Amino acid sequence: MNTRNRDVQSIVHGLNTGLYINDEWIEAEKGRTFAVENPATGKTLTSVADGSEADAERAIAVAGNTQASWAKTSPRERSEILRRAYDIIIQRTEDLAALMTAEMGKPLAEARGEVAYGAEFLRWFSEEAVRIPGDYTNSGDGKNRILVTRVPVGPCVLITPWNFPLAMATRKIGPAIASGCTMVFKPAPQTPLTSLALVQILREAGLPKGVLNVVTSSDAPKVVGAWMRSGIARKVSFTGSTDVGKLLLAQAAQHVMRSSMELGGNAPFVVCEDADIDRAVNGAMMAKLRNMGEACTAANRFLVHHSVAADFSAKLATRMGELTVGDGSLPGTDVGPLIDTAALEKVQLLVDDALSRNAEIIVGGRRRDGAGYFYEPTVLANVHPDSLLMNTEIFGPVAPVIPFEDESEAISLANDTEWGLVGYIFTQDIDRALRLSDEIEVGMAGINTGIVSNPGAPFGGVKQSGLGREGGRIGIEEFLEYKYLAIPR
Ligand code: NAP
Repeated sequence: MNTRNRDVQSIVHGLNTGLYINDEWIEAEKGRTFAVENPATGKTLTSVADGSEADAERAIAVAGNTQASWAKTSPRERSEILRRAYDIIIQRTEDLAALMTAEMGKPLAEARGEVAYGAEFLRWFSEEAVRIPGDYTNSGDGKNRILVTRVPVGPCVLITPWNFPLAMATRKIGPAIASGCTMVFKPAPQTPLTSLALVQILREAGLPKGVLNVVTSSDAPKVVGAWMRSGIARKVSFTGSTDVGKLLLAQAAQHVMRSSMELGGNAPFVVCEDADIDRAVNGAMMAKLRNMGEACTAANRFLVHHSVAADFSAKLATRMGELTVGDGSLPGTDVGPLIDTAALEKVQLLVDDALSRNAEIIVGGRRRDGAGYFYEPTVLANVHPDSLLMNTEIFGPVAPVIPFEDESEAISLANDTEWGLVGYIFTQDIDRALRLSDEIEVGMAGINTGIVSNPGAPFGGVKQSGLGREGGRIGIEEFLEYKYLAIPR
């Protein structure tokens, strides 16, 4: 996968599409497979192994058997595997981006951005692997030494969604490798190909046999259920919807597994009356249209002071109306397709509901007929706070604008949700920016910016947006346990 701009079918044909267990690519039980589709065309790209419960049991047994030897490898060895994998990913940017665009739909420029972002988690955790801290103190009475070390938590269950097929995987696999944990991994069935390409790269980078085991499947409850029941897995790290996260937390309780949950969002994007409106529109374009709006960090509710709402909406509509919607692999495409028909129908339903409550379309408001799952970039003005999209992840290129009267109303609207992943605040008043970021219940806030994701920062949410953090200094902690040694003087 080194050549630039190779035909995507030849990239797909170069992939192993079996289950990856104990360093072997194998068929699923009974040779079952499922199809992977290109959402821009609706055509099948290829088929991959459709893992069963028995396949899953095999994979977790291997992860369990490999844990002790893997935990004994040196931090430097683990670090260098990650660093080599980072270098290979960067060399293969074009092929990985083409693959991602083909199975997920995002425009090539964004796919290249995700390759860089996803690779960076491996580089970040290669640097963290050799800096795992410990602690040494004396007890208060001076009679004991207190030595605290960190040990890997043990075999991990990793589950990822389809919207960022590389980065959501490296954000988990990176710290798991750095800390010395073995893994079983199930990527989303819509986008397994990027994950399979990543596995091949980690193998080339020298990841030992049995450390990472991958089961692609169209039956997530069976495969993941087998892992959660096994008693072998010590941790689950999940990125996906809040509903599935809650199911997994209940399953994790059975064996008291450590749990990291990166769940849904309902991001408020607050534009105050003193905001630089052009800057706010630039931020809105990023916070709304990155990944066609199919991001947990996507701005879901544009709360705009009534005095600037018309200006902001008009400028945003002009920018969104200029975008080219189409197949993400074609030059000039700004906005690709949504992931599938269900996603398209959900977006249309949310728009129709807002319109039935007197919202106005300033631009867009329609799906496109023909092949692929395309929805026009849309701005809705005067959206009523009771509209369904106020408390549903839109996951599409629709920007609802809700005017507010004063700061306290903005805060109460922003917090009127069970989610708390990220918020965006646009104001030129530093005191107001800090006040709002104190008051808005989120794990991350973008101040005059529409992008917060950064491998060096702790990514995660409060309320029903999740538990734990990925990335940053804390990212590796999620995969480590403390061990305290009492040593009398
Ligand atoms: P999803 O339906 O929850 O699926 C996520 C993963 O969980 C998929 O691999 C899925 O496989 C699997 N899954 C589904 N049901 C399961 C079950 N009963 N047991 C075990 N695994 C199960 O979410 P999605 O639609 O793929 O992704 C969109 C969601 O992810 C949004 O809510 C978004 O906000 C969230 N997200 C959050 C973050 C974050 O960092 N906070 C980042 C990205 C996305 P199947 O598809 O086969 O069911």
